[in-house]
Amino acid sequence: MQKTIEQLRDKLNLLNYKYYVEANPEVSDYEYDQLLCQLQQLEAQYPQFFDPNSPTQRVGSDLANSFNSVEHRYPMLSLSNTYSLEELRDFVGRIEREEGESEFVCELKFDGTAISIIYENGRLLRAVTRGDGVRGDDVTANIRTIRSVPLVLRGDDIPPYLEMRGEVIMPHASFNRLNAEREEAGENPFANPRNAAAGTIKLQNSAEVARRGLDCFLYYMVGEGLPCDNHWDNLQKARSWGLKISDRMVKCHSWSEIENFITTTDTERASLPYDTDGAVIKLNDYAKQRRLGSTAKAPRWAVAYKFKAEQALSRLLSVDFQVGRTGAITPVANLEPVQLAGTVVKRASLHNADQIALLDVRLGDMVYVEKGGEIIPKITGVELSERGAESVPFDYIKTCPECGTPLVRIEGEAKHYCPNSEGCAPQIVGRLIHFLSRKAMNIEGIGDETAELLYRCGLVRDVADFYDVKPQQIAALPRMGVKSAENIMRQLEASRKVPFARVLFALGIRFVGETTAKYLAAHFGSMDALASASLEELAEADEVGEKIAASIRAFFDDETNRKIVARLREVGLQMEEGEKQTLSTLLDGVSIVISGSFERHSRDELKALIELHGGKNLASVSGATDYLLAGDKIGPAKLQKATKLGVKIISESDFESMIEGAEIVVSPEVKIEEKHHSEENNSIQGVLF
Ligand code: NAD
Repeated sequence: MQKTIEQLRDKLNLLNYKYYVEANPEVSDYEYDQLLCQLQQLEAQYPQFFDPNSPTQRVGSDLANSFNSVEHRYPMLSLSNTYSLEELRDFVGRIEREEGESEFVCELKFDGTAISIIYENGRLLRAVTRGDGVRGDDVTANIRTIRSVPLVLRGDDIPPYLEMRGEVIMPHASFNRLNAEREEAGENPFANPRNAAAGTIKLQNSAEVARRGLDCFLYYMVGEGLPCDNHWDNLQKARSWGLKISDRMVKCHSWSEIENFITTTDTERASLPYDTDGAVIKLNDYAKQRRLGSTAKAPRWAVAYKFKAEQALSRLLSVDFQVGRTGAITPVANLEPVQLAGTVVKRASLHNADQIALLDVRLGDMVYVEKGGEIIPKITGVELSERGAESVPFDYIKTCPECGTPLVRIEGEAKHYCPNSEGCAPQIVGRLIHFLSRKAMNIEGIGDETAELLYRCGLVRDVADFYDVKPQQIAALPRMGVKSAENIMRQLEASRKVPFARVLFALGIRFVGETTAKYLAAHFGSMDALASASLEELAEADEVGEKIAASIRAFFDDETNRKIVARLREVGLQMEEGEKQTLSTLLDGVSIVISGSFERHSRDELKALIELHGGKNLASVSGATDYLLAGDKIGPAKLQKATKLGVKIISESDFESMIEGAEIVVSPEVKIEEKHHSEENNSIQGVLF
């Protein structure tokens, strides 16, 4: 039995890592919760195998290496959960037995990622993720970009130290936009808004966080000297200070009121603009909360009732394999049409070969289809009792369904690829369509069908060929004429003015989406500088990790691509960033090296600021360097070299003073003074989310 327990712990630890750190879960929450429940039962049955590090005893950790980790003043716990109304009723019954008749607050369970936002004297001081419950990551710069999070509170009864706990979420509109962009860039879309929110809050670049459109609901107040002695009243206060508190919240005095809240929420949640995965039921009175306390993982006075995702059962008829413009293969299931969450579903995503193997999905199986916040429904399981004796495991394709080339699988990536980028029709046509698209070269006159036709009749084989096509050749195509040909010629001419960042995006380099192209353009300034950059130099640009750097290098190492770029240059497309504006000459003749990560600006923002004020960015410290602008986790080699050469080391705030024209005064880091906790009224300690 010990072995089974350990295997379950290993499995859950791995699933935790995928879910919290990588924001890329392998199984559904329901499956995860079933496994956890199984482990809980075994541990209760065999207490001799107790382990304080078991996933049943700990809050799943989201700590990442790239952020400053900060200790929570009050621990940040999880919630116990149940999928059963009967268990929820037991919970309410137990509390009333122990504490007498009680008031409960029922709220939405927002499906995002937990956050603690600290206000000192009414000003936002810091925002920290849940982390492992004891320490979390300092993501203040990212939280500051969320418009609904006030930086300054209004009111005269705000406690000097206030901690608000809440959930950062990604509304459906932002999620759909983000995923469409990612798909267009050949990147894996986020599985759901929760993962997208968790992934976004851990980005190093706050400008990108701001662009992604997060939101944040606050649902609990923590601290001492709070204005009221119960949860409900404090949240009303918080709302009056300008904090975003949901109004979908009710006070309940009986089981039937609680049950009513749950059933209404379950039916209404489909029409909300964000995801909720359940309801949270909290005991209102703080004194009672304190008496009940918490386990190592969750408070005893609150519980989450989780909704099961809407599911339908249908037969898997066949699987199509789509080839994207980057060669990525996506298996898509064709199902017997079935009703799900108000729509008829005929197709569902199967993601990749691993997912098919993990679920052991076979042709002819009755499969479960779920619809979460995702754009297309997905298959989450198989009804084994309905499987026929003749069924055989699914054989994943080994060659490209379009061109027959053997597929490859890049290490660390879940998808198979067709490597025949130059000869596989959907990849070529996909690249042509991408090049013409609105956010790239914006040549609307050539629609998807015409692009495909131009390719099929041999007029256009790569993106540079568009500029060689003659108007009479276009006019001769079906449904085209002299007028449309002239129009297209005008648009091609106008595309010569399209800025460099969009030209770069239009090339369709794998993983280089619209935003990454902008960062690359700002960082390198020209196609030549980008094409000759080493992997290390590439990885210095914002939002460019190893994977993107390798893809850019591979693109420019390919002779065919270099020829295409050379031809695009010849026809006059923009290969450099436009004229730089200047704001001042304060940094004229000053050379600065930037290293580390910063609280208020991304590295590229700082680089842009240096140039806007007339200064020069240098990549490495040398005798010619005037200043080393040092952030957190600064490269030790750079620091050592700067000290040795006597280069002046400045902080982000020193730099800000410089560009405001002030003398540099090195400012000590702001630290929150450790306060003593007292058992005063209206205080909450140690029993929180
Ligand atoms: P949870 O998400 O189930 O519930 C606790 C969290 O709910 C709190 O930390 C808070 O962030 C949030 N919350 C939302 N609205 C709230 C409200 N009104 N009041 C209080 N809290 C509110 O717990 P968790 O610890 O974040 O995650 C554990 C769960 O995550 C598991 O039960 C499982 O469902 C899922 N999980 C899934 C996998 C997987 O592989 N699929 C892996 C690990 C965890």
